[in-house]
Amino acid sequence: NGTLYNANTIEEFNNYDKKSILRNVGLETIYNKIVNQEWLKNPNELTHFLLLTFADLKQHAFHYWFAFPSLSLSDMEIKYEKSELLNEEIQLKLQNELLTFKSNHSKEEHGFYLIIENENSYQIKSLSEFENVINGNEKYYLGFSDPSALNEYPSMILRNYLLASYLTFKKDLFNVIAFRQDQSLLLKNVKITTSIENIENIQELKDKISVIGWEKNTKNKLGPRFTNMGSTMDPIKLAESSVTLNLQLMKWRMFPTLNLDKLGKTKCLLIGSGTLGCHVARNLMAWGIFNITFVDRTRVSFSNPVRQPLYEYEDCLNGGKDKASCAAEHLRRIYPNVNVQSHSLDIPMPGHFITDRQKTLESYKKLHDLIEEHDVIYLLTDTRESRWLPSLIGIRKKKIIINAALGFESYLVMRYGVYGDNSNDNNNNDSTNENNDEFKEMTSKRLGCYFCNDVVAPVNSTKDRTLDQQCTVTRPGVSAIAGSLAVELLVSLTHHPEYKYASAYNPTSQNNDGHVESDLGVVPHQIRGSISNYQTNLLYGSSYNQCTCCSPIVLQNYAKDDFNFLERCFNDSKYLEELTGLKQLHEQTLKLLQDFDYSSEEE
Ligand SMILES: [Zn+2]
Repeated sequence: NGTLYNANTIEEFNNYDKKSILRNVGLETIYNKIVNQEWLKNPNELTHFLLLTFADLKQHAFHYWFAFPSLSLSDMEIKYEKSELLNEEIQLKLQNELLTFKSNHSKEEHGFYLIIENENSYQIKSLSEFENVINGNEKYYLGFSDPSALNEYPSMILRNYLLASYLTFKKDLFNVIAFRQDQSLLLKNVKITTSIENIENIQELKDKISVIGWEKNTKNKLGPRFTNMGSTMDPIKLAESSVTLNLQLMKWRMFPTLNLDKLGKTKCLLIGSGTLGCHVARNLMAWGIFNITFVDRTRVSFSNPVRQPLYEYEDCLNGGKDKASCAAEHLRRIYPNVNVQSHSLDIPMPGHFITDRQKTLESYKKLHDLIEEHDVIYLLTDTRESRWLPSLIGIRKKKIIINAALGFESYLVMRYGVYGDNSNDNNNNDSTNENNDEFKEMTSKRLGCYFCNDVVAPVNSTKDRTLDQQCTVTRPGVSAIAGSLAVELLVSLTHHPEYKYASAYNPTSQNNDGHVESDLGVVPHQIRGSISNYQTNLLYGSSYNQCTCCSPIVLQNYAKDDFNFLERCFNDSKYLEELTGLKQLHEQTLKLLQDFDYSSEEE
């Protein structure tokens, strides 16, 4: 049993009068039970403790101080002649007797016993039988269960026990057996002395009782202890430490150069939170990348949940939840420590005529700022032309751009080349201070973008199309594969010494164009695969100088005229082809290859 004092504030905890509450508890519980002899029926009252606590529940920090009140009568001293360990035979006999006693007596009486010895046999009785059993010459012991871990010394419990026995039985000499799990301790001729001569009326001795017993703390001083249970009490912190530990295991066992710090700081913008967006987000989290922003403009529809693992049926009701914020909400449910944002945003597209200039300008600015704030831009939308503007802004801002696109049974995952090289970054040449000189071809090959293989500018692909053409119809496994690869590609890049400027593995080149591997192996430019034959191929493609997105002429015009340039691209579907010379090329090619029918690649 114990008494708990729980303070509501740390001040209250500190201001408790420790001396007086200890004395009060000692007198009211232990001493009173000795006076009215209740302790004989419930001797465990002698071990009554006191606990003072203050719990800072927000921090899961606990201040606590235990006291085990130990009572003394004026100048009380306890001395014993000698202590010895009981031999095995007696130990065994006593243990058997103890079992019998415990089965015949209530729990309150366990722990403190009267032991009577008669010609090498032992009997264990309740202390309440003392007056009846002990008349004169019987050989007896006071027994108690001793929690002490010290071989030769009994625990402090014995002090209260002896005081109670002294005052109750009016005897000052006892033999004591301290019961222990393995070998019990015998204390011979334990003598109690005090300066009080008359102990007949113990009621009046109350003032002569002193109480000590506050526990020392870890510094071996009288003072409270402190424990921070944050990591075990707060499930969110528990989740965090478990996730971190899991990743650290990978570092320790398989991948010593795993840069968890860099991954943890990487900010990813996911444009499109459909099938690909869901898979990419989950794989990012698995790698410990927790800065994730979703951009989408649609709502969750009934067809989504079975294919898009962040949504559920309930999300589709009442017209469907806003997709980006719904995805964010689910990420938080999976892992509350994730730093996730969401934005519902219409992405302006070339060939989609602007009807509301102000609104389009605002959308552009928002997208521009989002891209600027992030390190990695994932292009995960389901149309070609919706990738154009984020590609263009991302290239201008020299971000890592990873594009994933799906066909019915095929997929493409690629990263874009970045203008410039590492030396630009080292010179603190901030990308926001870019000038037109920056967007010129370098001597080293820059990797191509998604539009480099096109000979037509992106147009409104959903116009005049039937439903099955507008929606991406794919074999379901394709998006999970592409989503995983899109994240693995980023992680490989993160562990490459050249980071976003890393040259690409070129499978067709003799010397791989001097490609340096990352700590995780090769860092390809494009990964194309198909589940019709379950094959994956790595492709390498340099940038195309007439590309409608990443070519210097487009970047230079965009950097010069900003939104005015974009406005022309949105409103005039042929402008980009004219600017890049594609239109001219197109006409020439058509003339040359009049009989040759080619089709552009399907997503
Ligand atoms: Zn390009």
